[in-house]
Amino acid sequence: MSKTRVIIVGSKGRMGDALMRLGAKDPALDLIAGVDRDDDLLTLIDRCDVLIEFAHHALSPGLAQTAVERKKALVVGTTGHTDAERKAIAAAAEKIPLVFAPNFSVGVNLLFYLTRIAAEKLGEDYDQEVVEMHHRRKLDAPSGTARRLGEILAKAAGGTYDELLQHGRHGEVGARPKRTIGMHALRGGDVVGDHTVIFAGDGERVELSHKASSRDTFAAGALRAAQWVRGQKAGLYTMQDVLGLN
Ligand code: NAD
Repeated sequence: MSKTRVIIVGSKGRMGDALMRLGAKDPALDLIAGVDRDDDLLTLIDRCDVLIEFAHHALSPGLAQTAVERKKALVVGTTGHTDAERKAIAAAAEKIPLVFAPNFSVGVNLLFYLTRIAAEKLGEDYDQEVVEMHHRRKLDAPSGTARRLGEILAKAAGGTYDELLQHGRHGEVGARPKRTIGMHALRGGDVVGDHTVIFAGDGERVELSHKASSRDTFAAGALRAAQWVRGQKAGLYTMQDVLGLN
């Protein structure tokens, strides 16, 4: 198979930097270009097979529409989308192959898998709390990864994220209700991304944790997803599909 030709959108950001550096070294890829705010993607897009976006959530729907019009596959790593933006991305995936993942690391995707198993086995006698920590410049909270963990826990409890999530606590909140999922976002320093899911029962506690120490782990996963998505039929895929963890 010929090399997969990719364009990185958001190339001057923290993730863009890692993607450009690793993409240039990857023998399976042909890194066509990186584009950021002031660049004209439309003059370059016909030279690529796959667009990889790690930029800003408001950009994703328009970019997905462009990918549909130009028949390009798309990898979206950006987080913090509104419900309307998520719907627009899903609509584009009816026409093109699209990987949309809040976290591209192999370890975090294993954490998603283990969280589902733990939630199913432990059941509602174990209170569930999600704690995440990221660097001080992160724009959205909770992280996309923490949100996905919340969605997995909510599904295992037979509910939805919006119904069961409780973001932080403050004041006289009273005893902890059963079936809530606590969500706590810490910010500070240069933390790349820590996530812990706590299952607290009577007399014992199970904690599943992942700590990322380099953005290269996300970049390598997104480049792997770009290579994988090129050959797929139209559809909305996650990193679990790329890794065969479903
Ligand atoms: P960043 O702020 O360092 O970089 C974002 C870049 O996007 C900047 O260079 C900015 O100029 C550019 N940009 C913004 N709007 C643009 C537009 N309209 N057109 C082109 N470029 C535009 O942020 P970051 O830390 O690199 O993170 C980017 C996104 O990726 C965030 O949403 C973050 O949460 C997400 N992220 C996802 C994963 C994952 O594994 N899915 C991992 C890390 C970060």
